[in-house]
Amino acid sequence: MPLSSWSFQNIRNRMTVRLQVALVTAVTCSAAVGIAAVGAAVVAKNSAQANANQQLKTLARTMADRLDQHMFERYREIQNIASLSPLQNVWSKDGAATRTILEKLQASLPEYAWLGFATPDGMVHAATKGMLEGVSVAQRPWFVDGLKQPTVEDVHDAKLLEKLLRTSPDEAPFRFVDVAMPVFDEHQVLAGVLGAHMSWTWADAVRRTVLTTQDTANAAELWVSARDGSLLIGPADHKLDVVLLTDAAKSDGVLFTDDTSSAPMLSAMVATRGQGSYPGLGWAVVARMPVAMIYAPAHQLVLQILLIGGIVAVFASAVAWFLAGSVTNPLKALAISLDLIGRQANVTSVERQHGSLDILRLSAAVRSLLRRVGSAEASEQNANSTIDTLQREVEDQKRDVEQKMLRYGADLHALQKLADTDSLTGLLNRRAFLPFAEDAWNYYRRYGRAFSILMFDIDHFKRINDTFGHAAGDEVIREMGKIISSGIRATDKVARFGGEEFVVLLRETDEAAALLMANRLREKIASTIVTAGEHRISFSTSVGCALGSSSARDLEDVIQLADTALYVAKTSGRNRVAMDGVTAEGRRAAA
Ligand code: GH3
Ligand code: MG
Ligand code: MG
Repeated sequence: MPLSSWSFQNIRNRMTVRLQVALVTAVTCSAAVGIAAVGAAVVAKNSAQANANQQLKTLARTMADRLDQHMFERYREIQNIASLSPLQNVWSKDGAATRTILEKLQASLPEYAWLGFATPDGMVHAATKGMLEGVSVAQRPWFVDGLKQPTVEDVHDAKLLEKLLRTSPDEAPFRFVDVAMPVFDEHQVLAGVLGAHMSWTWADAVRRTVLTTQDTANAAELWVSARDGSLLIGPADHKLDVVLLTDAAKSDGVLFTDDTSSAPMLSAMVATRGQGSYPGLGWAVVARMPVAMIYAPAHQLVLQILLIGGIVAVFASAVAWFLAGSVTNPLKALAISLDLIGRQANVTSVERQHGSLDILRLSAAVRSLLRRVGSAEASEQNANSTIDTLQREVEDQKRDVEQKMLRYGADLHALQKLADTDSLTGLLNRRAFLPFAEDAWNYYRRYGRAFSILMFDIDHFKRINDTFGHAAGDEVIREMGKIISSGIRATDKVARFGGEEFVVLLRETDEAAALLMANRLREKIASTIVTAGEHRISFSTSVGCALGSSSARDLEDVIQLADTALYVAKTSGRNRVAMDGVTAEGRRAAA
């Protein structure tokens, strides 16, 4: 199929209304569902993002505050003990009593891995379980700083205690946070430094506690870094980008996406702030969650909308399919019964269709149209048969008229011939002759074409009549006509002028030729014998000749000249030819 035939119109023409309605419904529903899904996805994603941002910040902040809280409590605890006035004269004097106090404290909080009191020279005077007693800690930072002021030392590996505390080689390295306080005697003289090494494992316990209080516990992670970004809790090979924590962002926190992990992680970072007299160690806390996890509810929502929308679209299309069917079925039925008209005998109309007002109207209009067509066909048939009858009548009349015309024509022709012909000889009569002679006269006048007129008159005809009878006379006249008409050219004309007189028109004939022709005819006549009954009759004729000449005023003048010449021929003895008042013999003699 050529590509051009795939126009929108062509595609529609291949589909039923039913299919079109169902398809349009499906497409419309799908589009609506698609738009709703995209809108919901955007809204849900934004809200999930905002939610996650807030949750992660809160989580990080909670962790940071808990760490601060915990450190503050230890810091204050050690500070309180160091400044207790009943103990002021015990610290450096009674080692056993100091040890007992320290061990009591350790028992109350197992994360105190080691508590000890060192005299200003750096020698450990008393410690829990007697560990490091008599050993110098003069070089340890906690002691150096603790001599001057209340001190907190950031997380570090155990140096001196490692061997003493280790119970198996598989244990992870011991890490501590130190709190150290200067201790004064009752005279306010520096008596030494009280130091506490807290196992860093407590921070991990705090982390677990914080995570269990959160909804996101199983997805979220909490990392803690030292001031320089190295991780105190979290994968050891990582380092936090703590420069993100500007002074402004320290409290509220900063959000970033960490792409270094296998899956992108949304991260919220806050700074610990210290609490009360505890100055804080500048730790950063990061709460992390996979980005995919944040958007999972949004994706879930979109999937649910698409699923519900899909079901709605299928359902709506099915409903549209059935509704459209109920609308178009009467149309289909109408088309089928219309198709039968003219194919099946006696089918001239269609069933009345129902289903809607439009179908009702259409069906009624079609039925009315078919009725009108039917009556129009009937009157057309009537008109056709009337026309046929009229046409037949007209044809008949036409034929009749034609036959009459032919008949009248023939009659007219016969009448014409009758009027122009002499009945005795069958030659032209005088009336019919004159137009030919006039024509010759006109040619002579206009073009100078010569012509002659010969007048014949049978000599003593009365005697023939008298001697042989009138019928014999008729026979002579008839024979005389035959002789003249067979002796002249086709372009010449002969006519019976009346009685026993004949006139001849010779065209293109000069004087000599006219005289020659006249004499030839005269001699022929004179030598002819007419048989009438038992009679054999010979006779002669006199001829008068005249040429068309400039002296003649008209044709009558020429005929008159020929008549005059005939008279001369008669008076000169008959059976001769005369011209211009002179007989042919006379002319020859004169010549
Ligand atoms: P000519 O001419 O020699 O002077 O003498 P003619 O006897 O011929 O004299 P005229 O011409 O006067 O006579 C004509 C006669 O011809 C008179 C008439 O009776 C006769 N005639 C005229 N018409 C007819 C006709 O149709 N048939 C017959 N048989 N005779 C006719
Ligand atoms: Mg005569
Ligand atoms: Mg005569």
